Amino acid sequence: MSLSGAPLVVVGAGVAGLSVALAAAPRRVLLLSRGHGGLDGSSALAQGGIAAALGPDDSPALHAADTLAAGAHHNAREAVHLLTAQAPAAIAWLARQGVPFDREHGGWALGREGGHGHARILHAGGDASGRALVLALAAAVRRAGHVEWREGVEVEALLLRDGHVAGVRVRADDGTDALVEASAVVLASGGLGALFAATTNPATVDGAGLALALAAGARARDIEFVQFHPTALAADETACRLPLVTEALRGAGAVLRDRDGRPLMRGVHPQGDLAPRDIVSRRVWQARHTGAGAFLHAQHLGDGFAAQFPTVFAACMAHGIDPRREPIPVTPAAHFHMGGVAVDLDGRSSLPGLYAVGEVACSGVHGANRLASNSLLEGVVFGRRVGARLGAALPSAPARGPWREVARAPAAAPAALARLRRLFWESAGPLRDGAGLRAALAQLRDDEELRASWQGALAGELLTAALARTASLGAHFRCDADDMRAATA
Ligand SMILES: Cc1cc2nc3c(=O)[nH]c(=O)nc-3n(C[C@H](O)[C@H](O)[C@H](O)COP(=O)(O)OP(=O)(O)OC[C@H]3O[C@@H](n4cnc5c(N)ncnc54)[C@H](O)[C@@H]3O)c2cc1C
Repeated sequence: MSLSGAPLVVVGAGVAGLSVALAAAPRRVLLLSRGHGGLDGSSALAQGGIAAALGPDDSPALHAADTLAAGAHHNAREAVHLLTAQAPAAIAWLARQGVPFDREHGGWALGREGGHGHARILHAGGDASGRALVLALAAAVRRAGHVEWREGVEVEALLLRDGHVAGVRVRADDGTDALVEASAVVLASGGLGALFAATTNPATVDGAGLALALAAGARARDIEFVQFHPTALAADETACRLPLVTEALRGAGAVLRDRDGRPLMRGVHPQGDLAPRDIVSRRVWQARHTGAGAFLHAQHLGDGFAAQFPTVFAACMAHGIDPRREPIPVTPAAHFHMGGVAVDLDGRSSLPGLYAVGEVACSGVHGANRLASNSLLEGVVFGRRVGARLGAALPSAPARGPWREVARAPAAAPAALARLRRLFWESAGPLRDGAGLRAALAQLRDDEELRASWQGALAGELLTAALARTASLGAHFRCDADDMRAATA
């Protein structure tokens, strides 16, 4: 195989992968995705919107300050400042690609979300922002002459030559395999929420790209940091993806209560039901584990519920719950992965020729906890940057040695995967402790099927990182942290 003229290969067609593909023009791009139309990842499910300092009293510096506070100052400051400084230009670019952002009073409609000191959240189609972004970017990719998009394929292996990542092996829906040369490979394969029993992420967001990068020897960063959303619909916990019950409902006066009607957040935090996500998640987790139960009461919205929250209303009704008349059972759920493949500001991983962008990557921009509506922004800002850099100049001269394939381990069978998701949720969920993490690692080691799977290997990496971080920070909460301090004092 010769690398001359090989395309830039982009794995994943959420906001991050689509942005890379568009920005790399005129370089030839081969875009690979499991699903179709870019709609199978988390991007299309995003409800809240995308953040940018566009309001009259706002600035990228204020947006950066809020991002750092949310991230418990564990963030990489340079990445944060780049993100917030580039946000207004990213919005203008998205509008040029045809994203129909909602408008009011002749300008963008700017909403406010938890953790943001100013109104700076743009949305499109009300609570269908992510879908609007994906549809516009996917249409722009289909029009672009430089991108070939192969859908319904699974990237199963990286091909290396002289230590450079220079291709991938893909399996198509019909079971056929193909080797594809690449001038460079960009992973834009999303997070890993689907490895947890309770998650808001779709089944395709399972950490496969991260597992592949780790198998090839790329360095990971901060993989113990997972954000849990406090309120997913708990109607059918065997389902792979739980519908999100948006925070905006609590903003509109809905209250979390146990099954006897006692308010769950009273006396827990001065902001009550609107306390930061990690605090509410832990309270809901505890209430469910003690048997008290957790329910969101939004009956006061009455018939206005359907008009104000159409997505949540439809999800509740589909599960036989009428939120106008009865409380909504809720559970915390894995929502966003702050950690991932360690990259610099240009998406470069520690492996030559391998890049990562979007949720699979960790530039350190989110620190220990992501600020709401910053992840679509991350995909667009860093996606455009990485695409433009690789479009302008290839990473290095083509390698010439023999090819070496690095595949991830086989996938776990459905029953083993279900065991892993339950184990992962109980041990590495919103509340963690050393004993639980050690027991989970031992269970993984003793489970032959899981031990041999790539999902088991990835879960083992995360459990090990969570065990090593003995103090609580951001979304990583160790309930044994005080005991440990006392024991080592
Ligand atoms: C319910 C929900 C609501 C959210 N709301 C918001 C919000 O309001 N604002 C915000 O900023 N963020 C929000 N987020 C987070 C945000 O949506 C994601 O972090 C972001 O969209 C991730 O984009 P991505 O392009 O990195 O990955 P994704 O959009 O998840 O795309 C991953 C892509 O990778 C492909 N892929 C994966 N593995 C392989 C493989 N091995 N081979 C081939 N293809 C592969 C998939 O097919 C898919 O195309 C929300 C997330 C969820 C789940």
